[in-house]
Amino acid sequence: MQVIFSVVKRCPNCGDEVVVEVEKKSPVVVNCRRCGSQVVVGVEELVEEVRLFDCEVRDWDRIAALSGKAQQMVLQAVESGRAPRELLPLLVKLRDVGALVCT
Ligand SMILES: [Zn+2]
Repeated sequence: MQVIFSVVKRCPNCGDEVVVEVEKKSPVVVNCRRCGSQVVVGVEELVEEVRLFDCEVRDWDRIAALSGKAQQMVLQAVESGRAPRELLPLLVKLRDVGALVCT
């Protein structure tokens, strides 16, 4: 599990979608994969997110004990491999008790 900063932008030249993911919250310039144009990303555009990589549910009882909304968010996070920053404390807790196993 890792906290990253990400934003999806459009290339100013060709309009292609440019996905930016960085580990530090600092301005970054990336090259468009299609046309090679520079895409500038400002700090204020970066959104903090959690990457789960390979996580799976080991203890369904623990998950089932969560509130409906939390349960849904956790399962969605496991499935998509990403979660909003607010969910990190809960994910860490679930991992620490062994309900979630992440590699
Ligand atoms: Zn482009």
